[in-house]
Amino acid sequence: DEEYILKTEKMSVVGELAAGVAHEIRNPLTSLKGFVQFLGEDENLKHKNHLRVMAEEIDRINEVIDELLLIAKPQGKTFKKEKAAEILDDVILLMEETAKAAYVQFSINADPELYIMCNKNHLKQVFLNLIKNSIEAMEFGGMMTIYCSLTADGYAQFILQDEGEGIEPDRIEKLGEPFFTTKERGTGLGLTVCYKIVKDEHRGKIQFQSELGKGTTVTILLPLDPIEEAKKRFI
Ligand code: ADP
Ligand code: MG
Repeated sequence: DEEYILKTEKMSVVGELAAGVAHEIRNPLTSLKGFVQFLGEDENLKHKNHLRVMAEEIDRINEVIDELLLIAKPQGKTFKKEKAAEILDDVILLMEETAKAAYVQFSINADPELYIMCNKNHLKQVFLNLIKNSIEAMEFGGMMTIYCSLTADGYAQFILQDEGEGIEPDRIEKLGEPFFTTKERGTGLGLTVCYKIVKDEHRGKIQFQSELGKGTTVTILLPLDPIEEAKKRFI
């Protein structure tokens, strides 16, 4: 037990350090992005492509920093009662263009009466990351099916199914490990963020099922009230 406490204390120091460093990196990056954009406005510029790539790479560094901050920062307990279906709708709207470009269609089946106490922006981030992964896994497009309902034992259940390439069985246990990626330009932080938000912040569960060449199903179970759930576990 003592070791466990020590470990979590050490983690929070590392977390604080990471958050601090992330902020320090973000400021100069913002200047860099501004200058790169400014230079790109020059019509007679010879190396426009180089500048475009530079701007994209700066965006990429910013994405990694966003993810690091989400993982490192202690999560505030600012839960509000939100409509689950609305969170999904917001995310679908955000992903519409990306999905269309990848020939991916959505089929949504969400209980309109389901409300959960949650951090809406963080849950949106979870679904965004999962849907992004699904779209990236469906090289030739396909159907992304999303269900959301109340389980018999009173949890909000989200099921996200894709028809992508699937995940090799021995890799399932690596999902969520920081920097685990099979993509040439992946960060391997998307699922780490999902785990942190679902498990640590919302006291929920996240589970992957996959069949190579067939697709992947992600199931998320969230307590309707994470604070009550946390109390239950300490009794
Ligand atoms: P990234 O997307 O940057 O690689 P993630 O943490 O989001 O990082 O995902 C880690 C890895 O898990 C991916 O590289 C991929 O191999 C695998 N993965 C996640 N979701 C799916 C999915 N829906 N279908 C197939 N593979 C997936
Ligand atoms: Mg990802």
